[in-house]
Amino acid sequence: MYDCVVIGTGAAGVSAALTLKSLDKNFILLGKASLSVKIGRAEVVKNYPGLPSVTGAGMRDAFLAQLAAEGIEILNGKATGIFKTDGGFTVACESAALECRTVILAGGVEAIKPIAGEREFLGRGVSYCATCDGFLYRGKDIAAVVYSKDEEHEVEFLAKFAARVCLFPLYKGVGEFADNVEIMSGRPLKIEGGDRVERVVTDGGEIAVDGVFMLKDATAGVGLLNGLKTKDGSITVNRGCETNIAGVFAAGDCTGRPYQYAKAVGEGNVAAHSVNAYLARLKRGEK
Ligand SMILES: Cc1cc2nc3c(=O)[nH]c(=O)nc-3n(C[C@H](O)[C@H](O)[C@H](O)COP(=O)(O)OP(=O)(O)OC[C@H]3O[C@@H](n4cnc5c(N)ncnc54)[C@H](O)[C@@H]3O)c2cc1C
Repeated sequence: MYDCVVIGTGAAGVSAALTLKSLDKNFILLGKASLSVKIGRAEVVKNYPGLPSVTGAGMRDAFLAQLAAEGIEILNGKATGIFKTDGGFTVACESAALECRTVILAGGVEAIKPIAGEREFLGRGVSYCATCDGFLYRGKDIAAVVYSKDEEHEVEFLAKFAARVCLFPLYKGVGEFADNVEIMSGRPLKIEGGDRVERVVTDGGEIAVDGVFMLKDATAGVGLLNGLKTKDGSITVNRGCETNIAGVFAAGDCTGRPYQYAKAVGEGNVAAHSVNAYLARLKRGEK
């Protein structure tokens, strides 16, 4: 069992990982191996100490070099769900189920807003991970709402199980798929149903389905874990970067403004120290 799983390889996640390493913790850094695309985007960064007038790409290279120098590897992938267990948590990702005592959420700000019903039906027909849940829909009709070409391989995977995949591509340059993948022209607006998903409502009508896969780059904290306290879409934390759920910490843009590297790095460091203190309390048998 890991002491911690850090979700997200932006400034906050990298900082948390470096501090966990210096605290000699047994952890996994989960996210894009090439780091957050946001890090590379800045033309020039003027307000980050120690790296004057660094470009975003330069900062990304510096972060990657520092991780490598510390022997910290990134588990390339995305978390698709976090579940409470007796000993802590299970973080599900495409390639593994990671057992851990604590989690640091460092997933940044979600650029894509959920559609109506998406959060409500999460785990009741809505899924973010084809490879985790695709087999549940053997012989069934499903919808796949796909936000970028990078996720097309997940549609191919779903087509192996489902009777029919209604594909809503929200990007240009759609590829070719198996015969049971039907490319829809409407835009999905809402997911509806009773106990479970029953249909997708689009701007052109509605389509009956048994499940809906929302395939996007990543899903930040709020969509991963039930019961997380938020305000205006940001995860609520105290000065120790503790969330309302014991053992779950959050750092960086996902905790709210200002959206800045220095704030993300600072919170990543604080979250890692809070993890350390929490683990020490667990060891002493305190709550
Ligand atoms: C164009 C641009 C210019 C900027 N310029 C500046 C500047 O000059 N100065 C400054 O201080 N700030 C600047 N910023 C802001 C800065 O980039 C952010 O504040 C910083 O990157 C936040 O770091 P973060 O780690 O909180 O989040 P992010 O950098 O967004 O990283 C979060 C990562 O987590 C991943 N993730 C999300 N969900 C999951 C999941 N389920 N599983 C795995 N991974 C997941 C995301 O895909 C992402 O890679 C700029 C931002 C942009 C876009």
